[in-house]
This record gives sequence, C-alpha cells and structure tokens, in this order.
Amino acid sequence: MKVAIYSNNGESSLEVASSLKKGIDQSDKLSIDGLNPEIVISVGGDGTLLSAFHHYQDISDKIRMVGIHTGHLGFYTDWRDYEVKQLVDSLEHDNGQSVTYPLLDIKVNYSGSSPSDYGLALNESTIKQISGSMVADVYIKNQFFESFRGDGLCVSTPSGSTAYNKSVGGAIINPSLSAIQIAEISSINNRVFRTLGSPLIIAPDEWVKIAPKTTHKTILTCDQQDLSTRVVESVEYRISKRKLAFAQYRHTQFWQRVANSFINEVD
Ligand code: NAD
Repeated sequence: MKVAIYSNNGESSLEVASSLKKGIDQSDKLSIDGLNPEIVISVGGDGTLLSAFHHYQDISDKIRMVGIHTGHLGFYTDWRDYEVKQLVDSLEHDNGQSVTYPLLDIKVNYSGSSPSDYGLALNESTIKQISGSMVADVYIKNQFFESFRGDGLCVSTPSGSTAYNKSVGGAIINPSLSAIQIAEISSINNRVFRTLGSPLIIAPDEWVKIAPKTTHKTILTCDQQDLSTRVVESVEYRISKRKLAFAQYRHTQFWQRVANSFINEVD
C-alpha cells in the first residue's frame, strides 16, 4: 500500500514523521509514495490535516486520510505521537475500512469577465469584512432569502461544524448527515436591519448564493486559506458530490470525539 507522509515543520512532528517513514520502509507491505498515495498521513494538528487535504485535493476521491497529532488533541487527528508502531501495524493489516465526511463545493464568481473559480472545503468557507459591516444578499435555491448586515457569514460542513462554526454559535452536526450550515458572524439586528439571527441547515438538493454589496472589502476564506485575490461578485455553496475518506483503524464515536475535544479532560 502506498503511503504519503505530510508533516508540519515542528520539531516533534518531524521526529514522528521520520520514525513513521522508517517503519514504512521496513515493511514489505508498505511503501512511501508522495505523488499517488492511497493513504495520506498528516503529522501535526488539525491545521496540518487541512493543508494535507488541500495538497491532495485533486486526488481526494482516491485517498484515505489518517491524522497523528503532535500537539494538543485535534478533531481530525486520532493517533498520538507515541503510537507510530501501532499505526504501522494497522496500515499493514488494512482492509479498506473507512468513514467518509461531506465536503463543501465553493463556486466563486468575480466581477467583470474573470472566469469563476471552484474550491472544496473540509471545514468551512467564510465571507466577511474586517472594517465596516458587510452587506450581502443571501439566496437559497435562487430565491432571495435575506439581506445580511454584519461581520460575515460562515458556511460549514458537518465535520467543520465543530470549528469556526461552533465559535459563532452554530450547531454541531454529525458528519454522517449530508448537510451544510450557514451561521452568522455578528449580524446587526435592529429596527432597520434584520436577519434570521439563527444558524440554518441546508439540505443536499439545495444551494446557497451570497452576493456581497461591499465587494472591494470582502474577504473569502476556504478552511485556512484566503481566496480573496479578486473582487468577489457572489459565492455559491453546495454539498459536494465528493466526500473525504478517513481510514478507520479505530473507531471513536462522533459524539465521544466531541466530548473528548470540548468537555472531557484528556492528558
Ligand atoms: P488555527 O491555528 O487558528 O487553529 C484553529 C483551531 O481550530 C485549532 O485548535 C484546531 O485544532 C481547531 N480546529 C480545526 N478544525 C477543527 C474542526 N473541524 N473541529 C474542531 N476544531 C477544529 O488554524 P488552523 O489549525 O490552520 O485551522 C484552520 C481552521 O481554524 C479553520 O478552518 C477554522 O475552522 C478555524 N478558525 C476558527 C476561528 C474561530 O473559531 N473564531 C477563526 C478562524 C479560523
């Protein structure tokens, strides 16, 4: 089985990556292949796993991900830095077991004649403004829904619902559901401006379009990336037909993972 190791540059991550490589080199069932891997192992934190996903985005339907965390407990990272031997053993006994998570399709339409761009997010995309309030029209399935005014909007996947979305009051969604969520980031609500004021969840056959009016100031993000290279006219979001697979060598029930990440004390 072909394995890629994607590490951040932290000292402990590089050490773990090196001992993982050694374990893989010593195995007659495994080999390192950074170009066409079947398994991608990220070594670092959730941010490293997000970067690994974007690095392999074009072949994301052909890979399964594994996350080793070298800092504090991550949401996508199941393996501890001292478990390299057990992980190599699990890789050698791999039988294709996996769990899949929905992804968010992003279509960015620019002002003028620039062609649209397409992106894929594992956590979320935000459309926001740093100074002044962002004014944007929100459409659901081509029907005008509301005119938003505030800091911005966060559109997240179920696995991303525990990230930025949670910080802005969104609900946590089990990733076994195909859904996307829109959560407001500091909306202005008074006698003049009115938004729904609560997060909303979009079904698989629906899509959302957000058209900012203050285009030159709009920032567009996709996971940890900034996509605001040109003036954004509108952004369309829908649940992707693609999903991201994680190799499921051990099973942590989703709500247990939520409890471990946010409530329980873990060493
Ligand atoms: P970072 O270094 O700013 O870390 C953000 C934190 O989010 C880390 O603790 C990370 O472990 C955690 N995180 C990432 N994905 C998660 C998930 N799916 N569930 C629960 N926690 C998760 O940035 P990074 O590590 O490069 O990660 C980028 C992510 O940071 C973005 O996708 C976004 O979700 C999140 N973020 C959150 C806020 C906020 O909560 N106010 C602001 C900006 C970005």
